[in-house]
Amino acid sequence: MSTPEAVRVTLVRGDITQQSVDVVVNAANSSLLGGGGVDGAIHRQGGPEILAACRELRASHYGKGLPTGKAVATTAGSLDARWVVHTVGPVWSSAEDRSALLASCYRESLRVAAELGARTVAFPAISTGIYGWPMDDGARIAVRTVLAEAAAPVEEVRFVLFDAHAFVEFEEVLAAQG
Ligand code: ADP
Repeated sequence: MSTPEAVRVTLVRGDITQQSVDVVVNAANSSLLGGGGVDGAIHRQGGPEILAACRELRASHYGKGLPTGKAVATTAGSLDARWVVHTVGPVWSSAEDRSALLASCYRESLRVAAELGARTVAFPAISTGIYGWPMDDGARIAVRTVLAEAAAPVEEVRFVLFDAHAFVEFEEVLAAQG
């Protein structure tokens, strides 16, 4: 048996809806019915099929919505991807340590992606937008969790960072840990 290849962790600056990958991870909210930021962009670019699939999930398995830290897959509609994996990040709190929930988003999304047979997975910087997580800490949790958890059949995990600040923070963390 050959030694399994290490998973490649790559960084790109750009829009996650423009990536050609097997899985695009969505920083969703628990309603699964759309929102701002990455979520809004994915539904806009991916078309109504994604929202229809989310509505079905709400009508079946997730009547109360998707809990924070969990992940679930739908079609990717017209995105250049096979699936969207929706995960709900925690809202930042200075009073309470919610890091385990943020790590869970990355771990559960990778688990769902691997179950689907995905080889390439694109992540946004979950919780660092509307949910207010500081970028340096969000990057640390993201990179550390992905390095620890990504496994075959996943070959590449791509962090897609929207702005220069996010890109630099992820670059620093990856250089220190990778
Ligand atoms: P959350 O509610 O989990 O904070 P957001 O979607 O508001 O999620 O933001 C998460 C991160 O994604 C932020 O750093 C934001 O700048 C970034 N972002 C927003 N739109 C896009 C996009 N189209 N592609 C990649 N990253 C994006």
